[in-house]
Amino acid sequence: MRPSILLIFLFLICFSCGELVPNPDEHPENITRNSSENDKIPKAEFAIIIHGGAGTILKKNMTPEREAEYKKKLEEAIRVGYNILKNGGTSLDAVQRTINVMEDSPLFNAGKGAVFTNAETNELDASIMDGKTLNAGASAGTTSVKNPINLARIIMDKSPHVMMAGVGAETYAKEQGLTLVEPNYFFTDKRFKSLERVKASEAKKENDAKTAFYDADIKNSKFGTVGCAALDKDGNLAAGTSTGGMTNKRYGRVGDSPIIGAGTYANNNSCAVSSTGWGEYFIRAMVAHDISALMQYKGLTLKEAAQEVIQNKVPELGGDGGIVAVDQNGNMVAEFNTAGMYRATMNDKGELRIGIYKK
Ligand code: ASP
Repeated sequence: MRPSILLIFLFLICFSCGELVPNPDEHPENITRNSSENDKIPKAEFAIIIHGGAGTILKKNMTPEREAEYKKKLEEAIRVGYNILKNGGTSLDAVQRTINVMEDSPLFNAGKGAVFTNAETNELDASIMDGKTLNAGASAGTTSVKNPINLARIIMDKSPHVMMAGVGAETYAKEQGLTLVEPNYFFTDKRFKSLERVKASEAKKENDAKTAFYDADIKNSKFGTVGCAALDKDGNLAAGTSTGGMTNKRYGRVGDSPIIGAGTYANNNSCAVSSTGWGEYFIRAMVAHDISALMQYKGLTLKEAAQEVIQNKVPELGGDGGIVAVDQNGNMVAEFNTAGMYRATMNDKGELRIGIYKK
């Protein structure tokens, strides 16, 4: 073969090989996590992120006092989990105890501040997941368990089941010695008024059956679920979520919060996620598991995966809300497509960040 023909031949081989190698800019799904920016940042020893619900949270509707109240409670909650992690405790304990603080506050739609059902009762849902073992626990529709996240944890740790609902879940909580309360423990004026407003608007037939609990009024108060995701010093991830669900819910409606894969998911090979938002859409989009799967099977970073699900998949279906998540390197992400989301992070250096509105 003449040298010039050989050169042309070699050039053609190289050119066609180049065509076969995907351009990562055009095909972000081909970027592996190991080559991403995120992975160049040293792994954090531990990390914790929380949310207190997403929704139409606008600065113009907030008083400085109210804002300060939320920030104070978010800080109090996250510091509980931070101290557990700092002292070598597990991510599961950090998640559970952090959520307890928010469940005990009337500010959030979980535990004490749970929203009312159409029947003027409070039906609470919660779930927790261990990223090391993929073990999980969840409870739905309980009316007397003070801290539903504790029931979810005990279902995970002590029972052969993942999920318990209603009267059976209450019986189990009682048997396990969890704190039970009278129904009026969950009464708060703010939530009751919210229910009255939604019912009044429903009576005027302003909403059809499908949108009954999503009118403009309730848009502002429909969210408020709490959640937490954490990475501990042993490299174990965990996530948990607790909620009163949605104002004016009926027929035993259960949202995404107690559904493993929708409201909560944790896997040491990817991330830990807690969701908040319009539950029906979060179930259909399998939000929390989808984020984990995009990381595990497609090599997306946590940020890329969360954006894909929250900014594309959920709104394309018609839903709204957000998530908080942490990956196995301690990268934390708060992603939401609503006007705001109560949120806070703390890293292993003790740096605290609190946010409410979109930047
Ligand atoms: N996701 C919850 C539900 O649909 C509501 C919320 O996040 O505030 O029950």
